[in-house]
Amino acid sequence: MSHHDERTFVMAKPDAVQRGVVGEIVSRLEGKGLKMVAGKFVQIDEELAHEHYGEHEDKPFFDGLVEFITSGPVFAMVWEGADATRQVRRMMGATDAQEAQPGTIRGDLGNDLGHNLIHGSDHEDEGANEREIDLFFDEDELVDWEQGTATWVYEDA
Ligand code: UDP
Repeated sequence: MSHHDERTFVMAKPDAVQRGVVGEIVSRLEGKGLKMVAGKFVQIDEELAHEHYGEHEDKPFFDGLVEFITSGPVFAMVWEGADATRQVRRMMGATDAQEAQPGTIRGDLGNDLGHNLIHGSDHEDEGANEREIDLFFDEDELVDWEQGTATWVYEDA
């Protein structure tokens, strides 16, 4: 079932934790048939924030972004499945939650550009998923388990 094992990094941001929608975010990803292989509730420090969002260092919103992402705990996760990185991005919706389509996580639960509830690795940035997983998790925190429903999610599992 090798092509069902693409991994992607996902994070419920501090606004999702404060607003009590971490469970709903997890629930939507579960509902899609994706498999959670790691999860932890963590407080991001300045250093990790700079590493994770390094690509945005020169952007005008960078300081505000670092302040936001370190403002409270996040729920960091790794999800696995066919085309997982792109599928999660589709489920997240547009970066600006005010513009995100209804039916997406940001479109249904958010109403702001910065406070947009969820991060998912960029599927157009080659290797972003592996890089971000490495930044947040040790190899032994990724759990190897069999998802009993996989044969019902995938025709060829
Ligand atoms: N962001 C912001 N202002 C902007 C653009 C982005 O505050 O003008 C924040 C927003 O929280 C976003 C994050 O910076 O999720 C990273 O931006 P990116 O363009 O990578 O969007 P994403 O991949 O999260 O959709």
